[in-house]
Amino acid sequence: MSLPPLVEPAADLSIDEVRRYSRHLIIPDVATAGQKRLKNARVLCVGAGGLGSPALMYLAAAGVGTLGIVEFDTVDESNLQRQIIHGQSDIGRPKAESARDSVREINPYVNVVVHNEALDNDNVMEIFAQYDLIVDGTDNFATRYMVNDAAVLLGKPYIWGSIYRFDGQASVFWAEHGPCYRCLYPEPPPPGMVPSCAEGGVLGVLCASIGAIQVTEAIKLLTGVGDSLLGSLMVYDALEMSYRKIRLRKDPNCAICGENPTVTGLIDYDDFCGAVSDEAQAAALGSTITATELKDWQDSGKPIELIDVREPAEWEIVRVPGARLVPKGEFLNGNALADLPQDRQIVLYCKSGVRSAEALAAVKAAGFKDAVHVQGGVVSWVKTVDPSLPVY
Ligand SMILES: [Zn+2]
Repeated sequence: MSLPPLVEPAADLSIDEVRRYSRHLIIPDVATAGQKRLKNARVLCVGAGGLGSPALMYLAAAGVGTLGIVEFDTVDESNLQRQIIHGQSDIGRPKAESARDSVREINPYVNVVVHNEALDNDNVMEIFAQYDLIVDGTDNFATRYMVNDAAVLLGKPYIWGSIYRFDGQASVFWAEHGPCYRCLYPEPPPPGMVPSCAEGGVLGVLCASIGAIQVTEAIKLLTGVGDSLLGSLMVYDALEMSYRKIRLRKDPNCAICGENPTVTGLIDYDDFCGAVSDEAQAAALGSTITATELKDWQDSGKPIELIDVREPAEWEIVRVPGARLVPKGEFLNGNALADLPQDRQIVLYCKSGVRSAEALAAVKAAGFKDAVHVQGGVVSWVKTVDPSLPVY
């Protein structure tokens, strides 16, 4: 879809800017007018993680005049496999500040605005209102729906991307001219159905593939060149090395941009996306122990059957001593239930406590009423019991 330029051109480019951007200026479709539009543009990156890293670096290099970074997290060693805007010496620093320093090093003409806070219902409208365009690099469904809804309510376009293992997707959403994220995904997936990158992993370089599409679309929207991805979904498969473009339509029944919207303001996104399913929540109620309690049980010699419900690749990285591995799927399909001992209390754990709560629901439904799971999973075990172990 062809759209008019999103931004008016800046008054001029300095001599230094002309030198710096000369390879843009000699592209007839960009030229001086396009570069002036980039200079005048205000773009916000939500997240300075996997997608935010390449997005911020290339937006900066391209000469986007004002770049906002909203990010509350700090740089962790496990980020560096893909979040290339941060380096070894940034570990422990706020990601927003580390990203700001990298952007300044890439291009000193960029005005960087740091929002070192978590994006939430209280600040999203005010922050988004300061920008022409938003690049969404979030990794969870609650924030994704909030980003979409805030953009729709403010009439702003945004560029969405998602990554998982070898697969990526990207699109441009702008309810005034085409579909929004809710037109494509009206409902979030059931809790636990779609693993996050933290649970399922992601090929680091996939971030560059999808982030590059996002930046390309940003530059096209800002300068008004080419055909936008608005109204199309790009699906990338790194294993096949294939890009497929799927046509997207605006959904007349969309809850926020349809003919009779039911969502007319921001909603409770954690509740909408459900951290854990109702069954898992009910099963975990009164049947949850902490990692410290598990350690006490083990030290006291209490007879328990400790089961790790994660996947084998995760088990290889770190595990709680004394556990055996039975992936969650074996409980949900019923295969693992017959092998459970009757003479000991069953204790389940996973990475963070979501998958173990789901397995717990199946185990309790099979009659093991005193079964429990470990709050916060192996991450909590490492934090509170044995910090010498690796986290992932
Ligand atoms: Zn919609």
